Amino acid sequence: MDHQALAQLLFPQVTETAQELEARFPLRSLPEGAVVTRMAPSPTGFVHLGNLVQGLTAERMAHQSGGVLFLRVEDTDAKREVPGAVETLINTLKHYGIQFDEGATMDGDNGIYGPYRQRQRAAIYHVYAKKLVAQGQAYPCFCTEAELSAMREQQESNKETTGYYGKYAVWRDRPLEEIQAQLNAGNPWVLRFRSTGNAENQFKFDDLVKGKLTVTENDIDHVLLKSDGIPTYHFAHAVDDHLMRTTHVVRGDEWLATLPFHIQLFNALGFKLPKYVHIGPLMKMDGSSKRKLSKRKDPELALTYYKAEGFPVEAVYEYIMTLLNSNFEDWRRANGDLPATDFKFSPKKLNPAGSLFDYAKLTDVSKNVIAKMDAEKVYVLLTQWAEEFDPDFAEKLTADPPFAKRILAIGRGGKKPRKDLAVWKDAKPYMGFFYDEYLQMPRFDPAWDKAVIRDVLNRFLETFDPADDATVWFDKVKQITQDIGFTTDMKAYKADPSAFPGTVADVSTFLRLAVTGQTNSPDLYTVMQILGKARTVSRIQSALSAL
Ligand code: GLU
Repeated sequence: MDHQALAQLLFPQVTETAQELEARFPLRSLPEGAVVTRMAPSPTGFVHLGNLVQGLTAERMAHQSGGVLFLRVEDTDAKREVPGAVETLINTLKHYGIQFDEGATMDGDNGIYGPYRQRQRAAIYHVYAKKLVAQGQAYPCFCTEAELSAMREQQESNKETTGYYGKYAVWRDRPLEEIQAQLNAGNPWVLRFRSTGNAENQFKFDDLVKGKLTVTENDIDHVLLKSDGIPTYHFAHAVDDHLMRTTHVVRGDEWLATLPFHIQLFNALGFKLPKYVHIGPLMKMDGSSKRKLSKRKDPELALTYYKAEGFPVEAVYEYIMTLLNSNFEDWRRANGDLPATDFKFSPKKLNPAGSLFDYAKLTDVSKNVIAKMDAEKVYVLLTQWAEEFDPDFAEKLTADPPFAKRILAIGRGGKKPRKDLAVWKDAKPYMGFFYDEYLQMPRFDPAWDKAVIRDVLNRFLETFDPADDATVWFDKVKQITQDIGFTTDMKAYKADPSAFPGTVADVSTFLRLAVTGQTNSPDLYTVMQILGKARTVSRIQSALSAL
């Protein structure tokens, strides 16, 4: 077979050479050890936690080493493409602190290694396709869908490995004339790789996450170009990551199965193999067993979920870091105020089997993150969230910012800040009662004699003076407690509850319910200070009239 002639027959339009492409996309001049990596998503419109795990790994590896992170859009499957998906992806990742140095952007491409959208790179793939054919390492296959499925059925009934290999690779060695005749007849064809691998052989491979692996050689003549001339993922991966000068491929471990084929392709094309970072799936506990997070079953897989719940970006970021590098948590404890990017991230610490996603832990991390923020920051982030997800609440917050900030300042700062909020969604149940429209009518425990409650509230109104400091205020509450025959001695009460009709805690609960409508609230003295005299009094009066 004259491979040169076949190459010319299949790709007459290709005049550019691989050498010319090498020159067009020069080696990057970066410091020793700089990682060049990428995110290469398919624009399906769904951005999930897995994207973030992969994105953060890639981002840290690139930026920590003084390297480059770029975005390549893998849009070879036009059927799966959703309009606006690239924009959604860029925005979402940016929201979580992943900025690309290069690649597809909102307004076209940025960088000299483009185009960064695969459909625009067809001519580039064809140069390498022609080269492989000329080298005798690729050939056209004219099998129809029907022929391929008949072959699969036969393999299945023979209990053989399915696929296009060995004697099943029927177009491997057809004469040029036969190929010419098919082309003349206008029959569609795909370009296949001529594999020299043997499925009996294994070889060792080193992955940055999985460690040393033993993998089996590929003997399948996989498709390189589909009948429309668009490459498969495998071929595009080799060509693009080579020409874009990727040093590390960070991707999901579902690609491990075809890694032997990728290695063959890099060799056949004369490309240096990049390093691989194969990330395991995100798992969750389902009862007592682990399973992969699923798009269908788990709303928490979608990144939009975290935004809607109101997890601050830093919380998700910190949590993912904890998930990826288990020493991050200790580092965070020791370096409370340093930016997370100061942490020395290592892909080697990723769990090769995949990470176990733990919602409770995320909530915990988030509480700590929010507890460390000052009231001003909480106000800004909460308001931003509410404007999108609870406009009514946003209106309340923005109507009187100093009032909202005083509320949000409760228990902040100091050694042990309060941890009331895990997500912005928690804010309304926590502080809504400050706003009259959200105040609930108090529901006193019917076990209490209403007359006693009334007595407490009336006595409080008689002595209440907002100018009192916290000690005086509480002394007055204790005084009322004693005056109605309740005790302020909690120890004595615990020792013998039947000896007392009630305690100072009960008196406080009556007041708390009257003023906040709830049995739980931040420090009541502070609440009254923020509400001011008129609103405190009027709330107690309405509680009285409802009793
Ligand atoms: N488009 C592939 C995917 O979304 C990219 C894999 C890779 O990063 O190489 O799975």
